[in-house]
Amino acid sequence: MSSNTLKIERAAPPRENRLEAGTAFCGTCEELRSRIGVKGKACLNQAGRSFSQSFGCQFTLSLAILNTLQNTVVVVHGPVGCGFWSVGGLGASRGQKRLRDPAALSPIWVSSNLDEHDVINGGEKKLREAVIYADREFHPEAIVVASSCVPALIGDDTDAILESLQQDVSAELVSVNCEGFKTRLMATAYDAVYNGILKNLSSRRIERESYAAGDKLDDLLWDYKKTHTVNVCNVGSMGRADELELQRLLNALELNVNFLPCYTRPRDFRRVLDAALNVSICATHDDYYLRHVKEHFGIPYIIGAMPVGRKYTARWLMDIARFFNIEDKAAALIEKEDAALNEALEPYRAALNGKRAYISGGEIRIFATGELLRDLGFEISGYKAHHVDEFMKPFIEEDGEGPGNTFINVASQQPFEQANIVRRLKPDVLVIHTGSGNITAKHGIPVFPLFLPANNYMGYSGAFEVAYRLKRVISNAQFNRNMSRYRPLPYRAEWYGKDVWSYIKPSGG
Ligand code: SF4
Repeated sequence: MSSNTLKIERAAPPRENRLEAGTAFCGTCEELRSRIGVKGKACLNQAGRSFSQSFGCQFTLSLAILNTLQNTVVVVHGPVGCGFWSVGGLGASRGQKRLRDPAALSPIWVSSNLDEHDVINGGEKKLREAVIYADREFHPEAIVVASSCVPALIGDDTDAILESLQQDVSAELVSVNCEGFKTRLMATAYDAVYNGILKNLSSRRIERESYAAGDKLDDLLWDYKKTHTVNVCNVGSMGRADELELQRLLNALELNVNFLPCYTRPRDFRRVLDAALNVSICATHDDYYLRHVKEHFGIPYIIGAMPVGRKYTARWLMDIARFFNIEDKAAALIEKEDAALNEALEPYRAALNGKRAYISGGEIRIFATGELLRDLGFEISGYKAHHVDEFMKPFIEEDGEGPGNTFINVASQQPFEQANIVRRLKPDVLVIHTGSGNITAKHGIPVFPLFLPANNYMGYSGAFEVAYRLKRVISNAQFNRNMSRYRPLPYRAEWYGKDVWSYIKPSGG
């Protein structure tokens, strides 16, 4: 690892501790809002479940992010099964990488393949062998070692092992401590990956490449470029079409844009420091990273709205414009885009008006998507958030007509609660991440993906594409109706008669 590394903790803390986040709640948005940040019996952070069907592992989300890096090999340090996500997500990662660089390789991953013997004797030998093999066989720019539960349980010090190995390999070694058992919040994965980047890749600036140092005109050009460049963070919640739409809007404001960390090369993290501003598209993603970059390198950041739907896209643009003192230019752009979007949406409004949607996903994205759907004429019958923390509060407060009685469930997975809820609410469509709606689909409700990397959701073109796709999904619900007719429901009738919150344990019992 670099001798010039930034001083940072070995592993990112779990979000239960860092943000006092919670994963168990069922009630109205107003009840939830009144409990955020509250201690004692109403504390969300300490609430749990007496029965839990499943919840996400931060290791798999970390792999989903790490597999997008160009010219990098990922070593899964643990039992081979922990790498299952790298098999399931291979096609999407490869396709998205090649949209940025047609010559990009498929994600390459190897496993240290720990077994019962290694649990007794330690995993160091196998980790060393895996790293040296990855370096000699693939010659990558970086080798990222993602540690799963087993090395943490048996006490492998991955950071120290990699530090001693660095002199024997040419790739830069990066340690990401993302053990699944350490957190109930899958979103801790964002912090874990950023922690690895900060420890090992962020600290050295690359020498500027395009301009000759020392020449006055070149110095001016360099400074101009740097002061008009924005880094937009993408940890996997933006496809290429989303990036192109945000780039189009920022270029219209005469700003350059870099996207990171997904789909970049390891060396690009040093160039990140040559920008005027870092911008997040989602508070759930980037606060850990951006606060550290500001603290250590002095680069300011914006964490605000997610640019999904016209209201939050406009706010996202205006926040950036305010920083550069170009609000008038942004206001003119927003007016023009609004008019074009209104015209484009007209043929879709009649089919969507009055439909009811249940929206499930990340705490910021569900409210931004709710706003977009309301703009299309939908009613929101309810929300489900993976988790809740302080970042959700302002979005609840301005949801719809204000904080109200909209139903909300906070649950990382827990498909049994979801099945009970949609049976009661009977929405016209379930908007949810792919793979999380299969059980619900058997209830006869069409499913619309909250996010797919191949589609466009962000900005003005994203709002149009969501309307276009939603109309098609809602008008073609026969597949789901057939499933509900011919497939048995996955849970017993008794469960559907029970309260949804039957297994949620509030803080204190
Ligand atoms: S919970 Fe632990 S053992 Fe299971 S997949 Fe995640 S990292 Fe691997």
